[in-house]
Amino acid sequence: MRRKIVVGNWKMNKTVAESTELASAVVAALGSDCSACEAGIAPTYPALDAVGRTIKGSEVLLVAQNCHYEDDGAFTGEVSTGMLNALGCSYVIIGHSERRQYFGETDATVNLRIKKVLAAGMKAILCVGETLEERESGAFEAVVSTQVTGGLQGVVDISDIVIAYEPVWAIGTGRTASSEQAQEVHKIIRNKVAELYGAPAADAVRIQYGGSVKPSNAAELFAMPDIDGGLIGGAALKAEDFAAIVKAAC
Ligand code: PEP
Repeated sequence: MRRKIVVGNWKMNKTVAESTELASAVVAALGSDCSACEAGIAPTYPALDAVGRTIKGSEVLLVAQNCHYEDDGAFTGEVSTGMLNALGCSYVIIGHSERRQYFGETDATVNLRIKKVLAAGMKAILCVGETLEERESGAFEAVVSTQVTGGLQGVVDISDIVIAYEPVWAIGTGRTASSEQAQEVHKIIRNKVAELYGAPAADAVRIQYGGSVKPSNAAELFAMPDIDGGLIGGAALKAEDFAAIVKAAC
C-alpha cells in the first residue's frame, strides 16, 4: 500500500513573514489529521529557514522548489543541495514545467539535479507532463515516457523518487485533467517504471497528480488506483484549501 503524498508548491509567492504565517496556518488546519499520508510545503528559498522553524515538531515536511547540481562555486543565483539539506528539506521538486519552460531545464539537467538530490540524502519529486499541443497530437505517452527515462538516467534505486505527473495545460489554468485522463497517464508512467526498474519498484513508486487540484476535485483524483497524492500550486496558498486537499488523501 503506497502512502499518499501531497506537496504545496508556493512558487514565487509570499514574503518571509507571509510564508511563516501561511505555514503556521497549514499546521493548525491539518491538526493531527495527516499522519496517514505525507504532507509538505515548498516555500521560496528566502523563506525556507523561517518556514522550517515554524513547522518543526509538526508532521509537515519542508520541501525545496529546485536546486543546482554543483556543490558550490561561481553559479550566481543558484542554491546547492548541501544548503537545502542543512535547512532540513526532505524533498526537492525537480523539473517543474515552469523550470523547463522559462529556465531552459532539459531532461539532462533534470537528471543531474535528481542525482545530486539523492546523493545529498534527500528525496526528489521528478515532474513530468505534456503541453496542450502534445496532448492534442496524441504525443503525450511518448513525451512523458521520455521525460521519465531521461530524468532517471543512471539512477539505480528509485526508492527516494516521487514522480509528479503535471500536464502543462492543467497547471494554473483551472483546467484539470479528468480523473480518467490522469489515471491513464499515471498507468503509463508506472508501466514505464516497471520496464526500467521491475514490477516491485513500479508498484512502490508514488506518482502524484498536479494541475489545478482543488478541494472539490481532490478526492476523486486521489481515488484513482495509480494516483498517489498531488502537487498543488494555487490551492496551496490557502491553508484551509491545502488542508482539505491533504485530508482528501488521508
Ligand atoms: C504546479 O505548479 O505544480 C501546479 C500544479 O499548479 P496549480 O495547482 O496551480 O495548477
